[in-house]
Amino acid sequence: MRKKVIAGNWKMNKTNAEAVEMLTELKELVKGIDNVGIIIGAPFTALSDAVKAVKGSNIAIAAENVYPKDSGAYTGEVSPAMLKAIGVEYVILGHSERREYFKESDEFINEKVKAVLAAGMLPILCIGEKLEERESGKTGEVTETQIRGGLKDLTAEEAKKVIVAYEPVWAIGTGKTATPEMAQETHRQVRDVLVSMFGNETAEEMIIQYGGSMKPDNAVELLAQKDIDGGLIGGASLKASSFAEIVVAGK
Ligand code: PEP
Repeated sequence: MRKKVIAGNWKMNKTNAEAVEMLTELKELVKGIDNVGIIIGAPFTALSDAVKAVKGSNIAIAAENVYPKDSGAYTGEVSPAMLKAIGVEYVILGHSERREYFKESDEFINEKVKAVLAAGMLPILCIGEKLEERESGKTGEVTETQIRGGLKDLTAEEAKKVIVAYEPVWAIGTGKTATPEMAQETHRQVRDVLVSMFGNETAEEMIIQYGGSMKPDNAVELLAQKDIDGGLIGGASLKASSFAEIVVAGK
C-alpha cells in the first residue's frame, strides 16, 4: 500500500510572517496524522523560517524551484545546496506555470531533477496536458513525453524518490477538476509509462499525486482512486483549515 502524500503549493503567495503564522496553525490541525505525508511548498523568502516553524512536526517543506548548478555566476538563482543547507526536503519542479511563463523544457527540468537528487532532496515532478491537447486526444502522448524527459537517465532507485504530480493544466486554478474516473485513467497511463521505464516493482512504489482544483469537497473521491496517491494543492493550500481537511481526506 502506498502512503498518500498531500503537498501544498503556495506559489508566489505569503510573506515570511504570513507563512510562519499559517504553518503554526496547520501544525496543530494535522498533529498526530502519521499515515499521510504532508508537505508545504513555500516561496524562497519564507523557506528558512518555514523549516524552523515545522521543526519536530509531521510537515516537510518544499521549495518551488531551483537552479541546477552547484554555485557560480547565475545572478538571482538559488542552488540545491543552498536549499539543502536550510533543511528543505522537497523541490517542486516543472510546474505548468514554469513551463508556460519561463519556457522550461523537459531537458532543463531533467537537469533539475538530477541536481535535486544529487543534493539529497526529493523532487516533485509536475506533468500535465493543456486543454487543447486533451481535446485532441493527446493526453497520453504529452504526459509520456514529459515523464520520459523529466526522468531521463534515472536509475530505479532514484526514480523511487521522485513524486510525480499529474496536473491537467486546464484544471489548475480554474475550479474545473478532472472527474475521478478521468484522473484515474491518466494516472494508470502514467504508471504504465513508469513500469516501462523502471519496472513494475518500482512503478508500484512511486507516488503519483493529482493536482488541479483539488478541494476539501472533492478530495475524498479523487483520493479513493486506485492510482491517485495524494494531491498537489494550490489555492486550497493557502488556508490552514482547507489544507488540513484535504490531509484528513488522505487518511
Ligand atoms: C497547482 O498549482 O499545482 C494547483 C493544483 O493549483 P490549484 O489547486 O489552485 O488548481
